[in-house]
Amino acid sequence: MEGSDIRGAMTGKITVGVGKQSIATAVEPVAPATPSMAQFLEIKAANPDSILWYRMGDFYELFFEDAVIASAALGIVLTKRGKHLGQDIPMCGVPVVRADDYLQRLIRKGYRVAVCEQLEDPAEARKRGSKAVVRRDVVRLVTPGTLTEDALLDSKTRNYLTAAYAAPGGGYALASLDISTGEFEVGTASATDLAGEIVRLSPGEVIATDDMLRDTEFKRWLGVVGAAATPVAGPSFDAMNGERTLKERLKVVDLGAFGGFSRAELAAIGALLTYVDLTQLGAKPSLRAPRRSGPEAILVIDAASRASLELVRSSSGDKDGSLLGAMDMTVTASGARELAARIASPLKSAAAINARLDAVGYLLERESLRERLREQLRQASDIARASSRLALQRGGPRDLGAIAQGLASAGVCGRLLRDEAMGLPDELSRATDRLEGVSPKIAIELARALVDEPPHLKRDGGFIREGYREDLDKTRSMGADSRRVLAALEATYIEATGVKSLKVRHNNILGYFVEVTQLNAKPLQSPPNDALFKHKQTMANAMRFTTPELIEIEGAMATASERALGIEHEVFGELSRLVLADEAALGETAAALAELDHLCGLATLAGQENYVRPEIDDGVAFDVRGGRHPVVEQALKKAKSGPFIENDCTLGRSAASSVPTGFDEQGNGRLWLVTGPNMAGKSTFLRQNALIALMAQMGSFVPAKSARIGVVDRLFSRVGASDDLARGRSTFMVEMVETAAILNQATDKSLVILDEIGRGTATFDGLSIAWATVEHLHEGNRCRALFATHFHELTQLAGRLAEITNVTVDVREWQDEIVFLHKIKPGAADRSYGIQVARLAGLPKAVVRRAGEVLARLEKNNRRAGAGGSTLEDLPLFAAPAVQAKPEPSPASAVDTALADIRPDELTPKAALEVLYRLKEIAAKPR
Ligand code: ATP
Repeated sequence: MEGSDIRGAMTGKITVGVGKQSIATAVEPVAPATPSMAQFLEIKAANPDSILWYRMGDFYELFFEDAVIASAALGIVLTKRGKHLGQDIPMCGVPVVRADDYLQRLIRKGYRVAVCEQLEDPAEARKRGSKAVVRRDVVRLVTPGTLTEDALLDSKTRNYLTAAYAAPGGGYALASLDISTGEFEVGTASATDLAGEIVRLSPGEVIATDDMLRDTEFKRWLGVVGAAATPVAGPSFDAMNGERTLKERLKVVDLGAFGGFSRAELAAIGALLTYVDLTQLGAKPSLRAPRRSGPEAILVIDAASRASLELVRSSSGDKDGSLLGAMDMTVTASGARELAARIASPLKSAAAINARLDAVGYLLERESLRERLREQLRQASDIARASSRLALQRGGPRDLGAIAQGLASAGVCGRLLRDEAMGLPDELSRATDRLEGVSPKIAIELARALVDEPPHLKRDGGFIREGYREDLDKTRSMGADSRRVLAALEATYIEATGVKSLKVRHNNILGYFVEVTQLNAKPLQSPPNDALFKHKQTMANAMRFTTPELIEIEGAMATASERALGIEHEVFGELSRLVLADEAALGETAAALAELDHLCGLATLAGQENYVRPEIDDGVAFDVRGGRHPVVEQALKKAKSGPFIENDCTLGRSAASSVPTGFDEQGNGRLWLVTGPNMAGKSTFLRQNALIALMAQMGSFVPAKSARIGVVDRLFSRVGASDDLARGRSTFMVEMVETAAILNQATDKSLVILDEIGRGTATFDGLSIAWATVEHLHEGNRCRALFATHFHELTQLAGRLAEITNVTVDVREWQDEIVFLHKIKPGAADRSYGIQVARLAGLPKAVVRRAGEVLARLEKNNRRAGAGGSTLEDLPLFAAPAVQAKPEPSPASAVDTALADIRPDELTPKAALEVLYRLKEIAAKPR
């Protein structure tokens, strides 16, 4: 929204637009606003880009265009309330008790919400005069990247707020913070790697300058990951401010310990922390030590390859069917977040990868230890999110309870690991120290203070255990005594009136009262009882009375419960301060629990799915024996569709393994050309090898009999085609853009998988492009590569280029049917079996038969051309047939004949209409 302001009220023009929308309303003529309207307009003017939730008692009310937008977005009733400047004021409301639900829906739709609370009791305001307005102000801006409530977040997904900054010297600095956990990461990406980084980080919200957000390519990738885009002013990206604020927040005098940051990175950090301050109105979220990311540390995977490999989401957008879905054996939400982050960011340092593999191997070998750890982890709650809420003063008793429980589990896990006789691998030993890093006083105090199942909100009290505070116990017993007194009073009243069914009851309007049926009211209204019982209310069947004793008890109970609540709130404050004093250590414990859970999950997965530890070094080997596709294998198992057929992939002559392979004799090229029938399993084979490399580098065991992999620096995958019509790119254009990216960036340490390059254009063009691409990968990029193709002509390249090996997927033909063996073997396919596959897919029999005839003609022709000495250079997949196999013409219909007789140019409009009627008549006649 631009420009809804107090000036608007004066000029009579109010413009309200929020987030994506902007609506202007002209309001004439000018008249002064009421005091409460003036307050609303002033607050709205200060928060022009957000939908304003204006607290009025038990509701958040929305006015003007905010109400129009929200009622449409939330499907709630739009009403009106009073008039402003002569016009009805549109209004809708959200009950406070259901606020989280509505907030979530608005935020999901890309809106921002300014939550304006009452800062004083209405009674306080009345003291200033009957017309005084309750003090209100915005206490928080809720944006997609600054959420902390469980109800607004997916527990298993990280929610980054990312500041992106185009560095003056080129490249982009990215600073990301999940304020719901304090996870913080900073890095730099080149222009070509920016999209990949955005997809890797998958932020909930990105802040950047207007200029940057105008870039269509950048905007597109934000759209792909569903990130909200928030423009911030250029001066926000201030490196000096970034450096100062970061030092302050991390309580350090030098940032060297975190690896140092470039000016551009500090500028991004500056904008990020300023924006957090702005939205949290000064409340400080947790901030863990920043993790460095960027191409030096992380295996670079571009955005298209990430999508094509279906790493954390399948092509349909779900976790099911993705690599994450197949690998997730974690038992905590934070462990699941850690796993997703590691799948998205595999490492590049062999030493760091091996350290992770040591930890997984250690846990794999010790099933009983692992199971005991997982048992504890299952009970651990999400410490990171709970302590972040406390830091932002948004926490409740349940968050304190979560921290108590998480710390208890962390303590047991730490002891279990320490008790191990065999020395722990480094990763686990570091995790153990961090599990036990929080002062034990906190866990003890929380366990002493809190009831077993503390409520979500502190508002109603009841979360402090009996025996923890003497004054609280005393106040509570006063309340309990009053209840006893009430029971005794009821007995006395029954005796005095002789009405056995008399009851002492309570409701929020009358407080405590005596209730009798209409028929029994007489004794209460006759002397001497009428002096005691004062009539209050007559209901359909009952009469209600009050007594001086009941009024007195009511007062005493209210004071007692108010005092008890006051004490509980005081204790809550003390416990929160105690917890936050150790915030940094708490963050480390939370991270260690997440790491331990994800490591135990990987070990369990390796055990259950029979994975092996990959050998990782800095060479260029790619030697996978008996490899399987982790997702397809599980899907086949689940569907009981037979076993997954394992396959070897040994790229490069350096390959050597104790497991023999059929490819050893012929020598292994660095680039494998994979041919084979449709549906044989080429794409599956390509993807499984890319995924095995990625799994290995994130520190997981892999689905294979053995695997030796020299660290891959960049992983490229172009498997399957999709168009991008919204951006005006056809399937072929997308394919070429992605292929260009690979050919321009792949190095001799990269792994490339390419499927079906050049299929979306004319045969000659496609074959030529595929041909040149293979040559470039071989001669120029010199990377390890798998190239699947139906252009069988390409297989002749193996004879010409030293590092190319032909492999094919085996099939058998049996009684005119095709049987897929899914086995990769040396050699080249001779045909594609496309027609058999088309028949399997249910193409009409007539079409299949016809296609068979056409193919036979084409092949005959092709052979003839071959005999005539066709050369390699003019090889299409099928030489252009001399005699085009023309489909038989179908007999002309009556409509066709009538149409042939029509001369459109000679028809008058009336005659044209008659012709139309005649044609309809002919078509309607039975044939
Ligand atoms: P096209 O050329 O038509 O794209 P393709 O050769 O790439 O086909 P895939 O899509 O990889 O074939 O595989 C087809 C199906 O075969 C898969 O969905 C999977 O169910 C099954 N499949 C592939 N590989 C194997 C394997 N190794 N073991 C068992 N089943 C497999």
